[in-house]
Amino acid sequence: MTPDQTSRVLDMRDAILGESMTVRRALPHRQQRTVGAWCFMDHAGPVQFDRGDGMHVGPHPHIGLQTFTWMIEGEVMHRDSLDNEQIIRPGQVNLMTAGRGIAHTEDSLKDGSRLHAAQLWIALPESRRHGPPAFEHHAVLPQESVDGFTATVLIGSALGRTAPTTAYSPLLGMDWVSRGPAQTHMDLRTDFEHAVIPLRGQVQAGDELLQPGSWLYLPTGRDRLSLQTPDASQFLLLGGTPFEEPLIIWWNLVARTEDEIRSALENWESGQFAPVRPGSPAGPLPAPSLQGVRLKARG
Ligand code: MN
Repeated sequence: MTPDQTSRVLDMRDAILGESMTVRRALPHRQQRTVGAWCFMDHAGPVQFDRGDGMHVGPHPHIGLQTFTWMIEGEVMHRDSLDNEQIIRPGQVNLMTAGRGIAHTEDSLKDGSRLHAAQLWIALPESRRHGPPAFEHHAVLPQESVDGFTATVLIGSALGRTAPTTAYSPLLGMDWVSRGPAQTHMDLRTDFEHAVIPLRGQVQAGDELLQPGSWLYLPTGRDRLSLQTPDASQFLLLGGTPFEEPLIIWWNLVARTEDEIRSALENWESGQFAPVRPGSPAGPLPAPSLQGVRLKARG
Protein backbone atom coordinates (compact mmCIF):
# COMPACT_ATOMS: atom_id res chain seq x y z
CA MET A 1 0.00 0.00 0.00
CA THR A 2 1.50 3.35 -1.04
CA PRO A 3 0.95 6.46 1.11
CA ASP A 4 -1.41 7.77 -1.60
CA GLN A 5 -3.73 4.82 -1.05
CA THR A 6 -4.50 5.45 2.62
CA SER A 7 -7.49 7.30 3.96
CA ARG A 8 -6.65 10.68 5.44
CA VAL A 9 -8.21 13.56 7.33
CA LEU A 10 -7.82 16.85 5.46
CA ASP A 11 -8.57 20.41 6.53
CA MET A 12 -10.99 22.95 5.10
CA ARG A 13 -9.82 26.50 4.52
CA ASP A 14 -11.69 29.81 4.72
CA ALA A 15 -12.51 31.46 1.42
CA ILE A 16 -14.51 34.53 0.41
CA LEU A 17 -17.63 34.01 -1.68
CA GLY A 18 -19.01 36.93 -3.69
CA GLU A 19 -18.17 40.19 -1.94
CA SER A 20 -18.03 39.32 1.72
CA MET A 21 -19.34 35.92 2.73
CA THR A 22 -16.88 33.52 4.36
CA VAL A 23 -17.20 29.85 3.47
CA ARG A 24 -15.16 26.75 4.34
CA ARG A 25 -13.61 25.10 1.28
CA ALA A 26 -12.76 21.37 1.21
CA LEU A 27 -12.02 21.01 -2.51
CA PRO A 28 -9.82 21.53 -4.35
CA HIS A 29 -7.23 20.59 -1.71
CA ARG A 30 -3.45 20.53 -2.21
CA GLN A 31 -3.36 16.86 -1.24
CA GLN A 32 -6.56 15.88 -3.02
CA ARG A 33 -7.68 17.85 -6.08
CA THR A 34 -10.83 15.83 -6.78
CA VAL A 35 -13.04 13.09 -5.34
CA GLY A 36 -14.53 11.34 -8.34
CA ALA A 37 -15.62 14.20 -10.59
CA TRP A 38 -16.34 16.39 -7.53
CA CYS A 39 -13.77 19.17 -8.02
CA PHE A 40 -14.97 21.92 -5.68
CA MET A 41 -16.78 21.92 -2.33
CA ASP A 42 -17.81 24.96 -0.30
CA HIS A 43 -19.65 24.77 3.02
CA ALA A 44 -21.53 28.05 3.66
CA GLY A 45 -22.86 28.80 7.15
CA PRO A 46 -24.84 28.16 9.19
CA VAL A 47 -24.99 31.94 9.46
CA GLN A 48 -27.61 34.41 10.66
CA PHE A 49 -27.30 37.49 8.47
CA ASP A 50 -27.78 40.92 10.05
CA ARG A 51 -30.83 42.95 9.13
CA GLY A 52 -30.40 44.27 5.58
CA ASP A 53 -27.64 41.77 4.84
CA GLY A 54 -27.63 38.52 2.88
CA MET A 55 -25.80 36.48 0.27
CA HIS A 56 -25.69 38.27 -3.07
CA VAL A 57 -23.44 36.76 -5.73
CA GLY A 58 -23.68 38.85 -8.89
CA PRO A 59 -23.45 37.69 -12.51
CA HIS A 60 -20.50 35.38 -13.20
CA PRO A 61 -19.72 32.74 -15.84
CA HIS A 62 -19.01 29.02 -15.63
CA ILE A 63 -17.65 26.57 -18.20
CA GLY A 64 -16.81 22.86 -18.12
CA LEU A 65 -18.60 21.98 -14.87
CA GLN A 66 -21.91 21.44 -13.11
CA THR A 67 -22.72 23.57 -10.06
CA PHE A 68 -24.55 21.53 -7.45
CA THR A 69 -26.33 23.34 -4.61
CA TRP A 70 -27.72 21.52 -1.56
CA MET A 71 -29.81 23.82 0.64
CA ILE A 72 -29.97 23.09 4.37
CA GLU A 73 -31.37 26.34 5.83
CA GLY A 74 -32.63 29.48 4.11
CA GLU A 75 -33.93 30.30 0.65
CA VAL A 76 -31.86 31.41 -2.34
CA MET A 77 -32.97 32.76 -5.72
CA HIS A 78 -31.09 31.41 -8.73
CA ARG A 79 -31.23 33.28 -12.06
CA ASP A 80 -29.27 32.32 -15.16
CA SER A 81 -28.53 33.14 -18.79
CA LEU A 82 -31.07 30.52 -19.97
CA ASP A 83 -33.74 32.79 -18.42
CA ASN A 84 -34.37 30.44 -15.48
CA GLU A 85 -35.54 31.91 -12.19
CA GLN A 86 -35.75 29.32 -9.40
CA ILE A 87 -36.02 29.53 -5.62
CA ILE A 88 -34.17 26.74 -3.81
CA ARG A 89 -35.42 25.76 -0.34
CA PRO A 90 -34.11 23.36 2.34
CA GLY A 91 -33.97 19.74 1.17
CA GLN A 92 -33.73 20.72 -2.50
CA VAL A 93 -30.98 20.53 -5.13
CA ASN A 94 -30.17 22.94 -7.95
CA LEU A 95 -27.96 21.49 -10.67
CA MET A 96 -26.63 23.80 -13.35
CA THR A 97 -24.72 22.19 -16.20
CA ALA A 98 -22.43 24.83 -17.69
CA GLY A 99 -21.21 22.83 -20.68
CA ARG A 100 -19.66 25.35 -23.08
CA GLY A 101 -20.88 28.30 -20.99
CA ILE A 102 -23.54 29.74 -18.72
CA ALA A 103 -23.78 32.70 -16.33
CA HIS A 104 -25.87 33.07 -13.19
CA THR A 105 -26.63 34.98 -9.99
CA GLU A 106 -27.47 33.71 -6.50
CA ASP A 107 -29.27 35.89 -3.94
CA SER A 108 -30.74 35.36 -0.50
CA LEU A 109 -34.50 35.56 -1.02
CA LYS A 110 -34.83 37.67 2.14
CA ASP A 111 -32.05 39.65 3.77
CA GLY A 112 -31.59 39.21 7.52
CA SER A 113 -32.33 35.47 7.39
CA ARG A 114 -30.35 32.29 8.02
CA LEU A 115 -28.29 30.44 5.43
CA HIS A 116 -26.72 26.99 5.52
CA ALA A 117 -25.78 25.30 2.26
CA ALA A 118 -23.22 23.24 0.44
CA GLN A 119 -22.14 24.23 -3.04
CA LEU A 120 -20.14 21.78 -5.08
CA TRP A 121 -18.81 21.59 -8.62
CA ILE A 122 -18.70 18.48 -10.75
CA ALA A 123 -16.11 18.39 -13.55
CA LEU A 124 -17.72 17.48 -16.87
CA PRO A 125 -16.05 14.77 -18.95
CA GLU A 126 -14.74 15.55 -22.44
CA SER A 127 -17.92 14.10 -23.99
CA ARG A 128 -20.17 16.68 -22.28
CA ARG A 129 -18.09 19.73 -21.51
CA HIS A 130 -18.52 21.32 -24.97
CA GLY A 131 -22.30 20.71 -24.98
CA PRO A 132 -25.18 23.12 -24.34
CA PRO A 133 -25.86 24.62 -20.90
CA ALA A 134 -28.80 23.30 -18.86
CA PHE A 135 -30.44 23.80 -15.47
CA GLU A 136 -32.51 21.46 -13.31
CA HIS A 137 -34.21 21.85 -9.93
CA HIS A 138 -35.10 18.87 -7.74
CA ALA A 139 -37.64 19.63 -5.01
CA VAL A 140 -37.88 16.03 -3.83
CA LEU A 141 -35.07 13.49 -3.52
CA PRO A 142 -35.11 9.83 -2.47
CA GLN A 143 -34.87 9.43 1.28
CA GLU A 144 -34.44 6.39 3.55
CA SER A 145 -34.44 5.90 7.32
CA VAL A 146 -31.36 3.87 8.32
CA ASP A 147 -30.54 2.97 11.94
CA GLY A 148 -31.45 6.39 13.36
CA PHE A 149 -30.24 8.35 10.34
CA THR A 150 -32.23 10.02 7.59
CA ALA A 151 -30.21 9.45 4.42
CA THR A 152 -31.01 11.42 1.24
CA VAL A 153 -29.62 10.43 -2.15
CA LEU A 154 -28.72 13.71 -3.86
CA ILE A 155 -27.05 12.29 -6.99
CA GLY A 156 -26.29 8.74 -8.09
CA SER A 157 -27.61 5.57 -6.42
CA ALA A 158 -27.42 4.22 -2.87
CA LEU A 159 -29.56 2.15 -0.47
CA GLY A 160 -31.49 0.84 -3.48
CA ARG A 161 -32.59 4.34 -4.49
CA THR A 162 -31.54 6.52 -7.43
CA ALA A 163 -31.63 10.32 -7.46
CA PRO A 164 -33.18 12.09 -10.49
CA THR A 165 -30.15 14.39 -10.73
CA THR A 166 -28.26 14.21 -14.05
CA ALA A 167 -24.67 12.98 -13.78
CA TYR A 168 -22.19 12.45 -16.62
CA SER A 169 -19.73 10.22 -14.76
CA PRO A 170 -20.19 7.54 -12.06
CA LEU A 171 -20.93 9.71 -9.03
CA LEU A 172 -22.50 9.64 -5.56
CA GLY A 173 -23.73 12.43 -3.31
CA MET A 174 -25.64 11.71 -0.07
CA ASP A 175 -26.77 13.76 2.91
CA TRP A 176 -26.95 12.04 6.32
CA VAL A 177 -28.78 13.48 9.32
CA SER A 178 -29.06 12.08 12.84
CA ARG A 179 -31.14 13.63 15.61
CA GLY A 180 -29.09 11.99 18.37
CA PRO A 181 -26.69 9.10 18.86
CA ALA A 182 -26.82 6.80 15.82
CA GLN A 183 -24.69 4.09 14.27
CA THR A 184 -24.77 2.24 10.97
CA HIS A 185 -22.69 0.76 8.16
CA MET A 186 -22.77 1.86 4.55
CA ASP A 187 -21.79 -0.38 1.64
CA LEU A 188 -19.38 1.37 -0.71
CA ARG A 189 -18.57 0.76 -4.37
CA THR A 190 -14.96 -0.38 -4.48
CA ASP A 191 -14.34 1.43 -7.80
CA PHE A 192 -15.31 4.74 -6.11
CA GLU A 193 -13.14 6.99 -3.99
CA HIS A 194 -15.16 8.75 -1.26
CA ALA A 195 -15.25 11.78 1.02
CA VAL A 196 -17.08 12.33 4.31
CA ILE A 197 -17.70 16.04 4.95
CA PRO A 198 -19.25 17.11 8.29
CA LEU A 199 -21.76 19.96 8.10
CA ARG A 200 -23.04 20.03 11.70
CA GLY A 201 -22.06 18.15 14.87
CA GLN A 202 -19.63 15.24 14.89
CA VAL A 203 -19.40 12.02 12.93
CA GLN A 204 -17.07 9.09 13.38
CA ALA A 205 -16.40 7.65 9.92
CA GLY A 206 -14.36 4.47 10.18
CA ASP A 207 -11.63 5.31 12.73
CA GLU A 208 -11.81 9.08 12.32
CA LEU A 209 -13.85 11.50 14.42
CA LEU A 210 -14.73 14.49 12.22
CA GLN A 211 -16.36 17.87 12.79
CA PRO A 212 -16.94 20.89 10.52
CA GLY A 213 -13.57 22.21 9.35
CA SER A 214 -12.12 18.78 8.60
CA TRP A 215 -13.07 16.00 6.18
CA LEU A 216 -12.09 12.45 5.38
CA TYR A 217 -10.77 11.13 2.06
CA LEU A 218 -11.14 7.41 1.36
CA PRO A 219 -9.36 5.86 -1.66
CA THR A 220 -10.88 3.24 -3.96
CA GLY A 221 -10.93 -0.39 -2.86
CA ARG A 222 -13.01 0.07 0.27
CA ASP A 223 -16.34 -1.83 0.40
CA ARG A 224 -17.80 -0.70 3.73
CA LEU A 225 -17.77 2.29 6.05
CA SER A 226 -19.00 2.54 9.63
CA LEU A 227 -20.79 5.79 10.50
CA GLN A 228 -21.46 6.82 14.08
CA THR A 229 -22.68 10.09 15.57
CA PRO A 230 -22.39 10.81 19.32
CA ASP A 231 -25.25 13.33 19.02
CA ALA A 232 -27.29 15.28 16.45
CA SER A 233 -25.21 15.54 13.30
CA GLN A 234 -25.27 16.13 9.55
CA PHE A 235 -22.67 15.20 6.95
CA LEU A 236 -22.19 14.58 3.25
CA LEU A 237 -20.91 11.35 1.74
CA LEU A 238 -19.48 11.97 -1.73
CA GLY A 239 -18.03 9.45 -4.14
CA GLY A 240 -17.10 8.69 -7.71
CA THR A 241 -14.64 6.90 -9.95
CA PRO A 242 -11.33 8.80 -9.94
CA PHE A 243 -11.50 11.57 -12.56
CA GLU A 244 -8.59 10.85 -14.91
CA GLU A 245 -8.86 13.79 -17.34
CA PRO A 246 -6.48 16.72 -16.78
CA LEU A 247 -8.12 19.75 -15.17
CA ILE A 248 -7.42 23.43 -14.83
CA ILE A 249 -9.68 25.10 -12.28
CA TRP A 250 -9.35 28.86 -12.37
CA TRP A 251 -11.90 31.30 -10.89
CA ASN A 252 -15.29 29.88 -11.96
CA LEU A 253 -13.94 28.09 -15.00
CA VAL A 254 -12.96 24.44 -15.48
CA ALA A 255 -11.00 23.51 -18.60
CA ARG A 256 -8.06 21.51 -19.91
CA THR A 257 -5.71 24.22 -21.23
CA GLU A 258 -4.69 27.77 -20.36
CA ASP A 259 -5.90 28.91 -23.81
CA GLU A 260 -9.41 27.67 -23.05
CA ILE A 261 -9.44 29.61 -19.78
CA ARG A 262 -8.13 32.79 -21.43
CA SER A 263 -10.67 32.56 -24.22
CA ALA A 264 -13.60 31.99 -21.81
CA LEU A 265 -12.44 34.96 -19.77
CA GLU A 266 -12.20 37.17 -22.88
CA ASN A 267 -15.69 36.05 -23.91
CA TRP A 268 -17.02 36.98 -20.48
CA GLU A 269 -15.28 40.35 -20.36
CA SER A 270 -16.37 41.28 -23.91
CA GLY A 271 -20.02 40.39 -23.22
CA GLN A 272 -20.15 37.23 -25.35
CA PHE A 273 -22.09 35.27 -22.72
CA ALA A 274 -25.89 35.59 -22.86
CA PRO A 275 -27.14 38.03 -20.20
CA VAL A 276 -28.36 36.64 -16.87
CA ARG A 277 -32.07 37.07 -16.22
CA PRO A 278 -32.29 40.42 -14.37
CA GLY A 279 -33.24 40.70 -10.71
CA SER A 280 -30.07 40.39 -8.65
CA PRO A 281 -29.06 43.62 -6.90
CA ALA A 282 -25.39 42.58 -7.15
CA GLY A 283 -23.03 43.69 -9.92
CA PRO A 284 -20.95 41.35 -12.08
CA LEU A 285 -18.07 39.60 -10.30
CA PRO A 286 -14.68 40.86 -11.44
CA ALA A 287 -12.37 38.07 -12.57
CA PRO A 288 -8.93 37.96 -10.98
CA SER A 289 -6.16 39.04 -13.36
CA LEU A 290 -4.52 36.40 -15.53
CA GLN A 291 -1.54 38.66 -16.18
CA GLY A 292 1.70 36.80 -15.49
CA VAL A 293 -0.26 33.68 -14.55
CA ARG A 294 0.71 30.33 -16.08
CA LEU A 295 -1.94 27.67 -15.78
CA LYS A 296 -1.02 24.04 -16.10
CA ALA A 297 -3.41 21.12 -16.14
CA ARG A 298 -3.13 18.51 -13.42
CA GLY A 299 -4.71 15.14 -13.30
MN1 MN B 1 -21.59 30.16 -9.64
